Amino acid sequence: MGVWEYGSVGVGECGNGYTPTLPYSYTPTPPTSLHSHTSTPLHSTHFFTMQNPRVISSIPEMQTLADQVRREGKRIGLVPTMGYLHEGHLSLLRAARKVSDVLVMSLFVNPTQFGPHEDYQTYPRDFERDRVLAASEGTDIIFAPAAEDMYPKGYTTWVEVVGLSDKLCGQFRPGHFRGVATVVTKLFNIVKPHVAFFGQKDAQQSIIIQRMVQDLNMDIQIEVLPTVREPDGLALSSRNVYLSEQEHQAALVLSRSLDLAQKLIQNGERSTAVILSKMRELIAQEPLVALEYVAITDLTTLEDLKEISARALIALAAKVGKTRLIDNCIVSL
Ligand code: AMP
Repeated sequence: MGVWEYGSVGVGECGNGYTPTLPYSYTPTPPTSLHSHTSTPLHSTHFFTMQNPRVISSIPEMQTLADQVRREGKRIGLVPTMGYLHEGHLSLLRAARKVSDVLVMSLFVNPTQFGPHEDYQTYPRDFERDRVLAASEGTDIIFAPAAEDMYPKGYTTWVEVVGLSDKLCGQFRPGHFRGVATVVTKLFNIVKPHVAFFGQKDAQQSIIIQRMVQDLNMDIQIEVLPTVREPDGLALSSRNVYLSEQEHQAALVLSRSLDLAQKLIQNGERSTAVILSKMRELIAQEPLVALEYVAITDLTTLEDLKEISARALIALAAKVGKTRLIDNCIVSL
């Protein structure tokens, strides 16, 4: 039985992960306007901490700056986010900071990855809070484009990773991964990163992006970092703010079901049918949790596995009240 690991960085786990605290005590320096087009010079690598990130909303401005940075031989790191930052996002910024000369965090609630009846309008947003937290991790640039600029009238080009985007969450969120692959491609073309960071929390998303980068010969290194959890095991998500205390407690059954799978595998169980049925049984005990799916799949193709093989993805999605949550872990024998 090996470690629970994922991607090229770090060690992930089901259930209880590590939970550093947010730097809430940070006192911000005076705010920079979201739409400021100041020509603040990029500071040297040694003076990053606690600087106000430069906020760029213009796509051509971001592209010109990226060209300039690349001409200077500097390395651009990108952390794509939809904002409402939590420790999961900050762990990505922190890792990216270490290997980037210029650290860009994109902040864009991407409309094309939300279904018509999903929470695009109500998705939590707090730019000022995000700016302070991004600053506390030494972010150089916050790229926050307007939806109308990313998808102007007549926009008609899409990126689809066929065969992966309709599996798992794709069955319940048609078009979601087409929106994700498209926006990530656009962000890559705008920010021109050498390296981009994603979380294992969204395992299918990371797998799709890695395949897209490979298939389309994008010259970008992808790093996937472990899921950050609450001390009680709940995977951090911007959507957790929707949960009542009672729903939060109920949602813990999700990470517990992943722990159960891990224990069964450690004890020698290899039949995915048996593991899945025990996970479903456990989750069914929580009346507030409506399971959408739980699956054990190959890590590359996302095809269901009959037996636990060398490496497998255990992924699930559920509604807790009105809130849709996902969680997963990777098992390696
Ligand atoms: P989002 O803002 O939800 O689109 O997430 C932005 C990035 O943060 C994605 O790469 C996510 O996978 C990652 N992320 C979200 N939640 C977590 C978490 N709990 N632990 C680690 N990474 C996360």
